[in-house]
Amino acid sequence: MKTKNWKADTRYVHAGAHPDPSTGAIMTPIYQTSTYVQESPGVNQGFEYARSQNPTRKALEEALALLEGGNYGLSFSSGVAATDAVIKLLAVGDEVVCGNDMYGGTYRQFTKIFQRLGITFHMVNTTDAANVAKAITPNTKLIWLETPTNPLMNVSDIEAIATLAKKQGILLAVDNTFASPALQQPILLGADMVMHSATKYLGGHSDVIQGALVVKDESLRDQLHFIQKSSGAVPGPMDCFLVLRGLKTLGLRMKAHNANGEKIANWLVAHPKVKKVYWPGLASHHNHLVAKKQMKGFGGMISFELTGDSIEETKRVLSATRLFSLAESLGGVESLINHPATMTHASIPQEERIKNGLSDTLIRLSVGIEDADDLIEDLAQALG
Ligand SMILES: *Cc1c(COP(=O)(O)O)cnc(C)c1O
Repeated sequence: MKTKNWKADTRYVHAGAHPDPSTGAIMTPIYQTSTYVQESPGVNQGFEYARSQNPTRKALEEALALLEGGNYGLSFSSGVAATDAVIKLLAVGDEVVCGNDMYGGTYRQFTKIFQRLGITFHMVNTTDAANVAKAITPNTKLIWLETPTNPLMNVSDIEAIATLAKKQGILLAVDNTFASPALQQPILLGADMVMHSATKYLGGHSDVIQGALVVKDESLRDQLHFIQKSSGAVPGPMDCFLVLRGLKTLGLRMKAHNANGEKIANWLVAHPKVKKVYWPGLASHHNHLVAKKQMKGFGGMISFELTGDSIEETKRVLSATRLFSLAESLGGVESLINHPATMTHASIPQEERIKNGLSDTLIRLSVGIEDADDLIEDLAQALG
């Protein structure tokens, strides 16, 4: 099939989907099996043991590759497991340049697990590519970019950083969780690897924990597949089925997230109790022009701060919404409200958080696909 020529909305629906050859089932079956019967020793149908291969996972991995514009997809049991596999490409003494505003779990894994094992992480403000260039040493093997970032919505120029990485033979991995492939395709901008917490927009329904990697290069795929089966953080077939189902509506959902995000960001900007709004679609956003260049839409993730900087008032607002549920995670069809300092980013020391602009009064919204008027009414009563 010449699937690469499909337009995006067709790709979301059909990527990875092949009618089951034994029954014609239009949906990929959930192959709930640990092993596969072999005809004679070593003679099999490409499936030996489900940690290494599973047909439901294979369909999802094919879909992920297609959506990101890469050649190979790899699924993991969580987003942090996908990140873990990327860092395991490295060895003692290697160095990584990464952002100083990242998902808290990524920060925790880098500083508490891999630093201890002899890998050095240089955390810089990647919104200016010159800061990345300055942090590179002869030992730098990987640049890890998150854009837009969780939770400050910082945007970095993927193409500019890919160019400087390529020149020095350094791998570039991009955490594309906040944008999803519907809004941003880092591989097409020169990245070597794309990482996802599929828990978020790819799954889209807050009912699964899963991670993903997409790469273009075959030898990189082989190394990551080796790590995937050797470390064993693979997702179960039911979870793969759920993410495959989620992908079918990714295009539709992201259009709704974009539209609601825009309405709510603009409404927040005009609210007298709101001091600052972080959303890449606003002309006032630090890297709005870069976002406009590399993204097809600005999504439903918005952070904001209240005037007055009062922790008590922040906590009151967080507890006062009715439609927005107070919870960690993001990217589902329902709207969530979150307090990064005590919830998603509590694993980053306060001093480090504040130094990088993440205040104790920051509120993060994951705007869902409900009617924007209802969402605004809820925020209005909570702020009021
Ligand atoms: C949630 C998240 C992760 C981690 O993914 P899990 O599926 O929770 O393991 C990584 N990066 C970003 C940007 C996230 O939001």
